[in-house]
Amino acid sequence: MSRILLVEDEPKLAALVADYLRAGGHEVEHLADGLAVLPAVRQGHYDLMLLDLMLPGRDGLDICRELRSFSQMPLIMMTARVDEIDRLLGLELGADDYICKPFSPRELVARVKALLRRSGAQAPALGLELDARAFQARYKGVLLDLTPVEFRMLAALAARPGQVLSRDQLMNHIYQDHRVVADRTVDSHVKNLRRKLVAVTPGQDPVRSVYGVGYSLELE
Ligand code: CA
Repeated sequence: MSRILLVEDEPKLAALVADYLRAGGHEVEHLADGLAVLPAVRQGHYDLMLLDLMLPGRDGLDICRELRSFSQMPLIMMTARVDEIDRLLGLELGADDYICKPFSPRELVARVKALLRRSGAQAPALGLELDARAFQARYKGVLLDLTPVEFRMLAALAARPGQVLSRDQLMNHIYQDHRVVADRTVDSHVKNLRRKLVAVTPGQDPVRSVYGVGYSLELE
């Protein structure tokens, strides 16, 4: 079952969409306030987000822009503003798809299914399963014994496979309170995470260090 984060401030529309998604076999969490979205994404594990453009607190474009600085989660924008579509789909913002209001809930569920299929094609190759609610990670089916900090670090790296994250970027993911720690603290967490991953696939080190820059995750 896939977990979907539905962000929509019109209660009736949100309830209708949630009903259709649940009937389609998805688990749905609903938020109505733009300010709550990114904290929820950072803490929970969602397979896809449906994001309304006009929201109280923080608008969808702004949320999308920041989301893409740390996550490649599949994203469908919902908008009544046809003039915004080009920007929504632009590389700069990085939405995967959009749907114009008013839409048929059936059409939306079909789009969700299609996008999940497209994005799911890459996930199993990583051999990594993350459950952010339980802070549990499995690599090649093996449960990893990770600290919360190691878990967050792995989740941040796994969200952008092959892409190098700097120590600063990693720090922002692993400490929710924006505390500042020394680079060597990050390095020692990486070292522990690496040791636990390598224990599953001896001889293969999935964590790549890029000298002076940071780290990336290279899973087959
Ligand atoms: Ca709205």
